[in-house]
Amino acid sequence: MSGEDLRVSYGEGSGDGRLRVVIVGGGTSGWMCAAALARLLPTRCAVHLVESEAIGIVGVGEATLPHIRAFNERLGIREADFMSWTRGTFKLGIEFRDWGRIGDSYIHPFGTFGRGQGEIDFHHYWMRMREAGHAVPPLERFSLACTMARENRFALPGTDPRRLSATFGYAYQFDAVLFAPYLRRLAEGLGAQRSEGRVVGVDRDGQSGDIRAVVLDDGRRIEGDLFVDCSGFRSLLLGEALGEPFQDWSRWLPADRAAAMPCRTATALTPYTSAIAMPAGWRWRIPLQHRTGNGYVYSSAFVSDDEAAGALARSVEGEAMAEPRLLRFRAGRRERSWVNNCIAIGLASGFLEPLESTSIYLVQQAITALLELFPERRVAPSDRDEFNRIIDLEYDRIRDFLILHYHATERDDSAFWNYVRTMTIPDSLAEKMELWRRRGRIVKYREGVFLDASWVAVYCGQRVLPHGHDPRADLPAADSLLRGMAALEAEVADTAAAMPDHLAYIARHCAQAAAA
Ligand SMILES: Cc1cc2nc3c(=O)[nH]c(=O)nc-3n(C[C@H](O)[C@H](O)[C@H](O)COP(=O)(O)OP(=O)(O)OC[C@H]3O[C@@H](n4cnc5c(N)ncnc54)[C@H](O)[C@@H]3O)c2cc1C
Repeated sequence: MSGEDLRVSYGEGSGDGRLRVVIVGGGTSGWMCAAALARLLPTRCAVHLVESEAIGIVGVGEATLPHIRAFNERLGIREADFMSWTRGTFKLGIEFRDWGRIGDSYIHPFGTFGRGQGEIDFHHYWMRMREAGHAVPPLERFSLACTMARENRFALPGTDPRRLSATFGYAYQFDAVLFAPYLRRLAEGLGAQRSEGRVVGVDRDGQSGDIRAVVLDDGRRIEGDLFVDCSGFRSLLLGEALGEPFQDWSRWLPADRAAAMPCRTATALTPYTSAIAMPAGWRWRIPLQHRTGNGYVYSSAFVSDDEAAGALARSVEGEAMAEPRLLRFRAGRRERSWVNNCIAIGLASGFLEPLESTSIYLVQQAITALLELFPERRVAPSDRDEFNRIIDLEYDRIRDFLILHYHATERDDSAFWNYVRTMTIPDSLAEKMELWRRRGRIVKYREGVFLDASWVAVYCGQRVLPHGHDPRADLPAADSLLRGMAALEAEVADTAAAMPDHLAYIARHCAQAAAA
């Protein structure tokens, strides 16, 4: 059998014509995948997940992107139930503190700036007024999501796209340790099978190289037609067994460790994640219903583990609930995520640090692509290549966006910031920055996660301002533009002020159940 003619079935199948899908790993990605396959392709596949409680899961990953809502909906998950179980809070964006300069603060919102003026984005008018010397308010005052976040307000977005209330989206912040068990309950209820055990061997077909079975430490063999590697950083199937090379991006994203430490919540329940720059990286602050998650993501080339743990412990804003826990990682991805009959999803396929909460999003995109391209009896090479194209593109675009945060800084107060400020960046990012600097243009994507408003937020928030704007933004008279902006600013402020407090909203709609 040639590599281009990849049979995924060995003629056995599940006995009822369905493909046997074996998922190795029961972390967030393993159970997300099991639940999605069991719910959405029950006539196409039988799902069998293997996990080792002794090895455990990463157990961090508390902040998400708005896309998770669509995923949950497709799985039939009710928001209030999910939020209550996972002690979740709502997330309107990320606050970046001390990134451009120490003392700076801006929000990357899940929403737009302004209301949009047809084809021309609001920021072009804002820039035009600034260039002309008008004292226009900061861009975030024209964003409902930013204003709600600053005021700790939350309500669901409106559905009429013409109204201001529909100009934002939201995601969740939740306890990562509770998410996988929540999905497990769902997946098992839908017929997914689970085996406890440690995978110690991988049996491959001598000719095609396809995986035939995984072998557990007690000698059990679990055979399958399609194998999903959700084994975490170790990448047991794709990396270890199939030897797929890892593309290392640490020259651009040098953070390789994190110290994580939860604390009691001592401040307001913010409907956003905070990313606060530190001397050798940054720290997250994620408020949940029952505690606040904290972690210092750093580069071990610039600070020792002890120093980082100490700096984190000193900076958390509440009583510590555990000692700092150390995690190690490397930025980059496997060259291909789907090889032969093995598809890696989650940390087994690659890792981009959690600065923009993208890992669970990447898991979700991989699952969606797998559902769309799910094999019949054979893997069509074109389907597999399409899957790899989609995943590569997602990784590459997120990579550039993350690098921008580090590179677009004026900070020169530590060796780490000097390194990232002066490092050579990928050509793909350099081109994007050049376009922005010339006239505020954002490279348009048809696919990928971060759209115009995200790039605008980070550029402006980190003091990378363009020299010009879209010439069509010169059309309206300055007076009328300024009046329109003042009216919009007031409408944004009033709309946010009329919304409930975030904590009150949660207490009313989705507080953790007393018995949970
Ligand atoms: C510091 C840090 C912060 C993060 N923050 C965020 C965030 O805010 N938002 C976000 O979206 N993502 C975040 N992530 C990423 C997120 O945690 C992961 O993407 C997510 O948890 C998925 O992990 P996983 O399921 O791929 O791997 P894991 O959680 O590592 O699960 C691996 C599974 O494989 C099993 N396994 C491994 N080896 C074997 C074996 N030999 N036999 C049997 N089973 C085995 C394990 O038991 C486990 O069940 C963060 C990651 C880190 C490191």
